[in-house]
Amino acid sequence: MADNSRNPDTFRIILLGTGSPRPNPERQHPAALVQWSEGGEDGQMLVDAGDGVVGQLLAANIPLQQVQNVALTHMHWDHILGYPAFVWGSWNAGRLKLTVTGPEGTSAMHHQLVESYYREQAEWAIDLGFPRPGWDDVTVRDVPVGWSETIADCLVEAGPVYHPPMHALAYRFTYRGRSLVVTGDTAMCDELIAFCQGVDVLVIDACAAAPSPDLPPERRRLIERLHEFHASPQDCIDIAAKAGVAKVVLTHHLPGVTPEFDAAGYTGEVVTGEDLDVIDI
Ligand SMILES: [Zn+2]
Ligand SMILES: [Zn+2]
Repeated sequence: MADNSRNPDTFRIILLGTGSPRPNPERQHPAALVQWSEGGEDGQMLVDAGDGVVGQLLAANIPLQQVQNVALTHMHWDHILGYPAFVWGSWNAGRLKLTVTGPEGTSAMHHQLVESYYREQAEWAIDLGFPRPGWDDVTVRDVPVGWSETIADCLVEAGPVYHPPMHALAYRFTYRGRSLVVTGDTAMCDELIAFCQGVDVLVIDACAAAPSPDLPPERRRLIERLHEFHASPQDCIDIAAKAGVAKVVLTHHLPGVTPEFDAAGYTGEVVTGEDLDVIDI
Protein backbone atom coordinates (compact mmCIF):
# COMPACT_ATOMS: atom_id res chain seq x y z
CA MET A 1 0.00 0.00 0.00
CA ALA A 2 1.24 3.49 -0.81
CA ASP A 3 2.51 5.47 2.16
CA ASN A 4 0.25 8.51 2.09
CA SER A 5 0.96 9.43 5.70
CA ARG A 6 3.59 11.97 4.66
CA ASN A 7 2.94 13.88 1.52
CA PRO A 8 5.77 13.73 -0.97
CA ASP A 9 6.44 16.98 -2.84
CA THR A 10 3.17 17.00 -4.70
CA PHE A 11 -0.31 18.35 -5.27
CA ARG A 12 -2.98 15.70 -5.64
CA ILE A 13 -6.50 14.57 -4.86
CA ILE A 14 -7.45 11.17 -3.50
CA LEU A 15 -11.03 10.22 -4.42
CA LEU A 16 -12.40 8.59 -1.29
CA GLY A 17 -16.00 8.19 -2.43
CA THR A 18 -17.27 8.45 -6.01
CA GLY A 19 -20.83 7.24 -5.41
CA SER A 20 -24.24 8.84 -5.17
CA PRO A 21 -26.90 8.55 -2.46
CA ARG A 22 -28.04 5.13 -3.68
CA PRO A 23 -26.05 2.50 -1.76
CA ASN A 24 -23.38 0.82 -3.84
CA PRO A 25 -20.81 -1.76 -2.68
CA GLU A 26 -18.24 -0.38 -5.16
CA ARG A 27 -18.59 3.33 -4.43
CA GLN A 28 -18.80 5.12 -1.11
CA HIS A 29 -20.63 8.38 -0.65
CA PRO A 30 -18.90 11.59 -1.86
CA ALA A 31 -15.62 12.54 -0.20
CA ALA A 32 -12.12 13.41 -1.39
CA LEU A 33 -8.83 14.44 0.20
CA VAL A 34 -6.72 17.20 -1.37
CA GLN A 35 -3.03 17.13 -0.37
CA TRP A 36 -0.24 19.56 -1.16
CA SER A 37 3.37 19.67 -0.08
CA GLU A 38 6.74 21.08 -0.99
CA GLY A 39 9.93 21.25 0.99
CA GLY A 40 8.51 19.78 4.17
CA GLU A 41 5.50 22.09 4.67
CA ASP A 42 2.29 20.38 3.81
CA GLY A 43 -1.44 20.79 3.97
CA GLN A 44 -4.51 18.73 3.38
CA MET A 45 -8.22 19.30 3.23
CA LEU A 46 -11.06 16.82 3.27
CA VAL A 47 -13.78 17.86 0.81
CA ASP A 48 -17.12 16.39 1.88
CA ALA A 49 -17.59 13.55 4.33
CA GLY A 50 -20.18 11.10 3.05
CA ASP A 51 -20.86 7.70 4.56
CA GLY A 52 -17.72 5.53 4.55
CA VAL A 53 -15.27 8.44 4.74
CA VAL A 54 -13.40 7.20 7.82
CA GLY A 55 -12.87 3.70 6.38
CA GLN A 56 -11.78 5.18 3.05
CA LEU A 57 -9.23 7.52 4.70
CA LEU A 58 -7.80 4.48 6.48
CA ALA A 59 -7.87 2.45 3.25
CA ALA A 60 -5.87 5.27 1.62
CA ASN A 61 -3.39 5.04 4.51
CA ILE A 62 -4.12 8.55 5.79
CA PRO A 63 -3.60 9.04 9.54
CA LEU A 64 -6.95 10.49 10.65
CA GLN A 65 -5.42 12.91 13.14
CA GLN A 66 -3.52 14.67 10.35
CA VAL A 67 -6.73 15.83 8.70
CA GLN A 68 -7.43 19.17 10.39
CA ASN A 69 -9.28 21.01 7.62
CA VAL A 70 -12.65 20.05 6.20
CA ALA A 71 -14.56 21.83 3.43
CA LEU A 72 -18.16 20.82 2.87
CA THR A 73 -19.86 21.58 -0.46
CA HIS A 74 -23.45 21.41 0.86
CA MET A 75 -25.60 19.77 3.51
CA HIS A 76 -27.27 16.99 1.49
CA TRP A 77 -27.10 13.84 3.56
CA ASP A 78 -24.91 11.87 1.14
CA HIS A 79 -22.14 14.48 1.66
CA ILE A 80 -22.27 14.65 5.49
CA LEU A 81 -23.41 11.30 6.88
CA GLY A 82 -19.79 10.43 7.65
CA TYR A 83 -19.04 13.82 9.23
CA PRO A 84 -19.84 12.91 12.85
CA ALA A 85 -17.90 9.65 12.35
CA PHE A 86 -14.95 11.67 11.07
CA VAL A 87 -15.06 14.09 14.03
CA TRP A 88 -15.15 11.20 16.49
CA GLY A 89 -12.71 8.96 14.58
CA SER A 90 -10.06 11.63 14.06
CA TRP A 91 -10.38 12.75 17.71
CA ASN A 92 -10.00 9.13 18.80
CA ALA A 93 -6.84 8.94 16.65
CA GLY A 94 -5.39 12.01 18.38
CA ARG A 95 -6.54 15.03 16.38
CA LEU A 96 -6.33 18.17 18.53
CA LYS A 97 -7.91 20.83 16.33
CA LEU A 98 -10.22 21.15 13.38
CA THR A 99 -11.44 23.88 11.05
CA VAL A 100 -14.61 23.21 9.09
CA THR A 101 -15.73 25.45 6.23
CA GLY A 102 -18.95 25.25 4.27
CA PRO A 103 -21.95 27.15 2.93
CA GLU A 104 -24.82 28.53 5.00
CA GLY A 105 -26.09 25.72 7.22
CA THR A 106 -22.70 24.23 8.09
CA SER A 107 -22.56 25.60 11.65
CA ALA A 108 -26.14 24.51 12.28
CA MET A 109 -25.35 21.02 10.98
CA HIS A 110 -22.30 20.75 13.27
CA HIS A 111 -24.37 21.94 16.20
CA GLN A 112 -27.18 19.45 15.57
CA LEU A 113 -25.26 16.35 14.45
CA VAL A 114 -22.19 16.67 16.67
CA GLU A 115 -22.27 19.24 19.46
CA SER A 116 -25.87 18.99 20.56
CA TYR A 117 -26.28 15.24 20.38
CA TYR A 118 -22.80 14.10 21.47
CA ARG A 119 -21.63 16.77 23.97
CA GLU A 120 -22.53 14.61 26.95
CA GLN A 121 -20.69 11.58 25.54
CA ALA A 122 -17.72 13.82 24.63
CA GLU A 123 -17.49 15.05 28.24
CA TRP A 124 -17.52 11.43 29.35
CA ALA A 125 -14.72 10.63 26.87
CA ILE A 126 -12.71 13.65 28.13
CA ASP A 127 -13.16 12.33 31.64
CA LEU A 128 -11.76 9.01 30.41
CA GLY A 129 -8.68 10.78 29.04
CA PHE A 130 -9.50 12.05 25.56
CA PRO A 131 -7.80 15.45 25.02
CA ARG A 132 -10.32 18.27 25.43
CA PRO A 133 -8.96 20.40 22.53
CA GLY A 134 -9.90 17.72 20.00
CA TRP A 135 -13.57 18.33 20.82
CA ASP A 136 -13.52 21.96 21.89
CA ASP A 137 -10.94 23.43 19.51
CA VAL A 138 -13.22 23.04 16.52
CA THR A 139 -13.93 26.11 14.39
CA VAL A 140 -16.94 25.87 12.11
CA ARG A 141 -17.75 28.72 9.73
CA ASP A 142 -20.41 29.36 7.12
CA VAL A 143 -18.84 31.14 4.16
CA PRO A 144 -20.23 32.72 0.97
CA VAL A 145 -19.17 32.42 -2.65
CA GLY A 146 -15.99 34.50 -2.94
CA TRP A 147 -14.49 33.37 0.39
CA SER A 148 -10.82 32.49 0.22
CA GLU A 149 -8.00 31.55 2.54
CA THR A 150 -4.38 30.52 2.13
CA ILE A 151 -3.62 27.31 3.98
CA ALA A 152 0.02 26.13 4.03
CA ASP A 153 0.70 28.15 0.87
CA CYS A 154 -2.32 26.80 -1.01
CA LEU A 155 -5.02 29.32 -1.97
CA VAL A 156 -8.46 27.82 -1.31
CA GLU A 157 -11.47 29.67 -2.80
CA ALA A 158 -15.23 29.04 -2.61
CA GLY A 159 -17.10 29.38 -5.89
CA PRO A 160 -20.61 29.16 -7.30
CA VAL A 161 -22.60 26.09 -8.32
CA TYR A 162 -26.27 25.49 -9.10
CA HIS A 163 -27.87 22.84 -6.88
CA PRO A 164 -31.33 24.03 -5.86
CA PRO A 165 -32.70 24.24 -3.26
CA MET A 166 -29.40 23.93 -1.38
CA HIS A 167 -26.81 26.52 -0.46
CA ALA A 168 -23.80 24.91 -2.13
CA LEU A 169 -20.18 25.73 -3.02
CA ALA A 170 -17.39 24.49 -5.25
CA TYR A 171 -13.79 24.81 -4.05
CA ARG A 172 -10.77 25.86 -6.08
CA PHE A 173 -7.22 25.05 -4.89
CA THR A 174 -4.24 26.89 -6.38
CA TYR A 175 -0.76 25.74 -5.41
CA ARG A 176 2.60 26.47 -7.03
CA GLY A 177 0.92 27.57 -10.28
CA ARG A 178 -1.31 24.47 -10.57
CA SER A 179 -5.04 24.39 -9.87
CA LEU A 180 -7.91 22.08 -9.03
CA VAL A 181 -11.67 22.58 -8.72
CA VAL A 182 -13.92 20.17 -6.83
CA THR A 183 -17.55 21.05 -7.55
CA GLY A 184 -19.64 19.03 -5.15
CA ASP A 185 -23.13 18.72 -6.62
CA THR A 186 -24.13 21.02 -9.43
CA ALA A 187 -26.08 21.33 -12.62
CA MET A 188 -24.54 23.09 -15.62
CA CYS A 189 -24.13 26.82 -14.93
CA ASP A 190 -22.18 29.69 -16.47
CA GLU A 191 -20.82 30.87 -13.11
CA LEU A 192 -19.17 27.48 -12.58
CA ILE A 193 -17.61 27.61 -16.06
CA ALA A 194 -16.08 30.99 -15.14
CA PHE A 195 -14.85 29.62 -11.78
CA CYS A 196 -13.10 26.63 -13.45
CA GLN A 197 -11.43 28.68 -16.17
CA GLY A 198 -8.07 27.15 -17.09
CA VAL A 199 -7.73 24.71 -14.18
CA ASP A 200 -5.52 21.66 -14.52
CA VAL A 201 -8.02 19.24 -12.94
CA LEU A 202 -11.79 19.50 -12.49
CA VAL A 203 -13.53 16.89 -10.30
CA ILE A 204 -17.21 17.23 -11.11
CA ASP A 205 -20.64 15.78 -10.35
CA ALA A 206 -21.73 13.65 -13.33
CA CYS A 207 -24.74 12.12 -11.60
CA ALA A 208 -27.42 12.98 -14.19
CA ALA A 209 -26.64 10.06 -16.51
CA ALA A 210 -29.44 8.94 -18.85
CA PRO A 211 -31.56 6.25 -17.15
CA SER A 212 -31.40 2.75 -18.55
CA PRO A 213 -34.52 1.91 -20.64
CA ASP A 214 -34.99 -1.35 -18.64
CA LEU A 215 -35.70 0.52 -15.41
CA PRO A 216 -39.29 0.80 -14.19
CA PRO A 217 -40.91 4.08 -15.35
CA GLU A 218 -41.05 5.64 -11.87
CA ARG A 219 -37.32 5.06 -11.33
CA ARG A 220 -36.58 6.47 -14.82
CA ARG A 221 -38.63 9.58 -14.04
CA LEU A 222 -36.74 10.09 -10.79
CA ILE A 223 -33.35 9.78 -12.56
CA GLU A 224 -34.48 12.17 -15.32
CA ARG A 225 -35.39 14.77 -12.67
CA LEU A 226 -31.82 14.64 -11.32
CA HIS A 227 -30.78 16.75 -14.30
CA GLU A 228 -32.53 19.75 -12.71
CA PHE A 229 -29.78 19.90 -10.07
CA HIS A 230 -26.95 17.62 -11.26
CA ALA A 231 -24.76 17.73 -14.38
CA SER A 232 -24.89 14.93 -16.92
CA PRO A 233 -21.61 13.36 -18.09
CA GLN A 234 -22.03 15.35 -21.32
CA ASP A 235 -22.53 18.60 -19.35
CA CYS A 236 -19.24 17.87 -17.54
CA ILE A 237 -17.35 17.50 -20.83
CA ASP A 238 -18.97 20.69 -22.17
CA ILE A 239 -18.06 22.64 -18.99
CA ALA A 240 -14.47 21.36 -19.21
CA ALA A 241 -14.25 22.30 -22.90
CA LYS A 242 -15.69 25.80 -22.36
CA ALA A 243 -13.45 26.43 -19.34
CA GLY A 244 -10.28 25.09 -21.01
CA VAL A 245 -9.76 22.46 -18.29
CA ALA A 246 -6.86 20.05 -18.92
CA LYS A 247 -8.37 17.00 -17.19
CA VAL A 248 -11.95 16.36 -16.11
CA VAL A 249 -12.73 13.67 -13.53
CA LEU A 250 -16.35 12.46 -13.42
CA THR A 251 -17.73 11.48 -10.03
CA HIS A 252 -21.01 11.04 -8.06
CA HIS A 253 -21.95 7.94 -10.08
CA LEU A 254 -25.19 5.99 -9.84
CA PRO A 255 -24.86 2.21 -9.38
CA GLY A 256 -24.62 0.23 -12.61
CA VAL A 257 -24.32 3.29 -14.84
CA THR A 258 -21.39 3.87 -17.19
CA PRO A 259 -21.13 7.57 -18.09
CA GLU A 260 -21.76 8.17 -21.78
CA PHE A 261 -20.61 11.30 -23.61
CA ASP A 262 -19.21 12.63 -26.85
CA ALA A 263 -15.80 14.18 -26.17
CA ALA A 264 -15.01 14.97 -29.81
CA GLY A 265 -15.03 18.72 -29.12
CA TYR A 266 -12.80 18.46 -26.03
CA THR A 267 -9.02 18.29 -26.27
CA GLY A 268 -8.39 17.45 -22.61
CA GLU A 269 -8.38 14.12 -20.78
CA VAL A 270 -11.55 12.50 -19.37
CA VAL A 271 -11.33 10.17 -16.36
CA THR A 272 -14.20 8.23 -14.79
CA GLY A 273 -13.29 8.48 -11.11
CA GLU A 274 -13.15 5.33 -8.98
CA ASP A 275 -12.87 5.07 -5.20
CA LEU A 276 -9.28 5.48 -3.98
CA ASP A 277 -7.99 6.85 -7.30
CA VAL A 278 -5.06 9.22 -6.73
CA ILE A 279 -4.95 12.05 -9.26
CA ASP A 280 -1.89 14.26 -9.51
CA ILE A 281 -2.54 17.87 -10.43
ZN1 LIG B 1 -26.71 17.33 -3.34
ZN1 LIG C 1 -24.76 14.36 -3.71
